[in-house]
Parts: sequence; structure tokens; C-alpha cells
Amino acid sequence: MTAKLRIALSKGRILDETLPLLKTAGIELLEEPSKSRKLIFPTTDSNVEIIIIRATDVPTFVEHGAADIGVAGKDVLMEHGARGVYEPLDLKISRCKLMVAGKVAPGPVNGRLRVATKFVNITKRYYAEKGEQVEVIKLYGSMELAPLVGLADKIVDIVDTGNTLRANGLEPTELIAEISARLIVNKASMKTKHATIQKLIDQLGVAVENANR
Ligand code: AMP
Repeated sequence: MTAKLRIALSKGRILDETLPLLKTAGIELLEEPSKSRKLIFPTTDSNVEIIIIRATDVPTFVEHGAADIGVAGKDVLMEHGARGVYEPLDLKISRCKLMVAGKVAPGPVNGRLRVATKFVNITKRYYAEKGEQVEVIKLYGSMELAPLVGLADKIVDIVDTGNTLRANGLEPTELIAEISARLIVNKASMKTKHATIQKLIDQLGVAVENANR
């Protein structure tokens, strides 16, 4: 842990939608991350720096105190487990749904249902809670392809508009969870940097309220 406050963000929607919230707390990047190969970025607040890492690594950095604070999708937190961090604020950004999907006109399933996903832990937990025995097949991307080429009967994936599913002749069948990005905080940092972190949580809370009025 450093004396500075280190915030972990990931490129893409989370970075784009978190920066305007941080701006309301006086924290702005001094340079454009897409134009840089750097991974650690100073901000307009000399006590705050931002690291930009892979979305799935954010809970790990925060859990180990390599970052004090992070922003991670609820899907990433559910998959990771993230038991070692506090989750004090729903930022209500990067919203989507985690769903089971399958072919619009599925054929019969012979034997166990095969489910392809990158969310292996969530999927195993979901079907275990339903009391259903399934075979979970780990993929790293292009989940939509799996039912089309006979690799799986169903997929578990993130759905926003549903366009990706529709374009591949698939439809959502079950909702697993409503997803949004959450602020997460390292447990030790919450104690040692309490005043700074609590102030930031409060400021972001107001920004989230104003954005969702
Ligand atoms: P859509 O076609 O709008 O349903 O978007 C589906 C694809 O966009 C998914 O396969 C996801 O990879 C990606 N996606 C949409 N929303 C999010 C989000 N909030 N976080 C991460 N990925 C997302």
C-alpha cells in the first residue's frame, strides 16, 4: 500500500463511465490513457493515481492492497468471489444482464446440458442452486458460437441490447443477475485511509444520485 490513494480501473466502458464520476470529486487524468503505453497515471489530485488494468484483475489488485480502490463489474466480482474487499457503492454504470441463452429453436438435449461460458464459477453455482447437473465448458470469448457449432446447448453471457444474441439466432432464456459496476475498497485501506476514502465514497454517491435522477 502506498501513502497515495491508488484507484484501479479497466479500459473501455468502466473507464469511460467512471472518469466523469471521479471528475466531480476533483480527480481527472492528466493524460489520455489511449494515447499512452503507461499503466500508472497521475491525476489532478497529487494524492491520487489511477492504474489501468484488465477488468478481471481489478478485484485481485484491490484484495491484495496493490490498489486501495477499484471499479469492477458485478459479473467480475461474482466470478472472482471478491470476499476480501468491501463493496460500498453501486455506481449504476456499465449496466447489463448476465443471462443464460440458447438457440431460438433448440433440438433435444441428449444427456447432460452443456453450457459454454467464461463465467465458470457463476454458472456452476447457478445450476447447483437449481439442483441441475450440467457440464460447464470454459471459453475465453465468442461464446455465441458454441451453440451454433454443437459445442454447447446453452451459453451464459453478458447481454446488453441483445443484438449479439439475435444476430446469431440465439435468445436469452433465464436472467442470472442484473449487472452494474461497483466501487470496491481494500479492507485495510478502509481503516488506514478512512477519511480520504469515506470522503470519496460520499462524493461519488452524490454524483451517482445526480446522474440517475
Ligand atoms: P449486446 O449485443 O448489446 O447484447 O451486447 C452483448 C456483448 O457486449 C456481450 O457479449 C458483452 O461482451 C458486451 N457487453 C455489453 N455490455 C457489457 C458490460 N456492461 N460489460 C461488459 N461487457 C458488456
